[in-house]
Amino acid sequence: MELTDDTRLQPSASANRRARNGAFRPPWSTEMRIRHACTSCADCIRSCPEAILVAGPAGTPVVDFSLGACTFCEACAAACDEDVFDLSEPPWQLKAVLQNTCLLHQGVTCRSCTDVCEISALRFDLHSGPVGQVKVDATRCNGCGACLSMCPVSAITLQTILPKEKAMA
Ligand code: SF4
Ligand code: SF4
Ligand code: SF4
Repeated sequence: MELTDDTRLQPSASANRRARNGAFRPPWSTEMRIRHACTSCADCIRSCPEAILVAGPAGTPVVDFSLGACTFCEACAAACDEDVFDLSEPPWQLKAVLQNTCLLHQGVTCRSCTDVCEISALRFDLHSGPVGQVKVDATRCNGCGACLSMCPVSAITLQTILPKEKAMA
């Protein structure tokens, strides 16, 4: 399919940098399958209703969570004609991880992330710290990324955490 002038289809410096440092690839895809099978056709990028897929290295797809969250709609996988997506596997093992820069660690009240997490993977613990603390329930978190862009101090990252490492962090 021919590329359009959609800016998401143009490989960006930031997407390239993220890819080198461990890009977030689309759900149900892996770095290896993308390297071996992706033709950079951008069909997956165009198909994403949330517009969170952008062109990364050589036009291959990466997720930009600053643009929104994944709803696991499977549109990207359905749009791909190559052996890039495997819906028989979990979409990914990404989990939210909170950094010490969270405002609560400085005694500032904030619940932006807990409010946005629809599956209650972020729990507010009133009994920790001066104004409470947010705990991630890694057994619930599906790595949708909704909380990332809501944090006013970018204190949340997504990290690959394998099932055996799942725990209340
Ligand atoms: S599953 Fe849906 S929302 Fe998530 S990246 Fe694919 S197309 Fe976008
Ligand atoms: S990544 Fe999604 S599921 Fe996980 S804590 Fe953030 S909003 Fe909740
Ligand atoms: S949104 Fe950010 S600053 Fe606010 S509680 Fe969550 S991690 Fe802390």
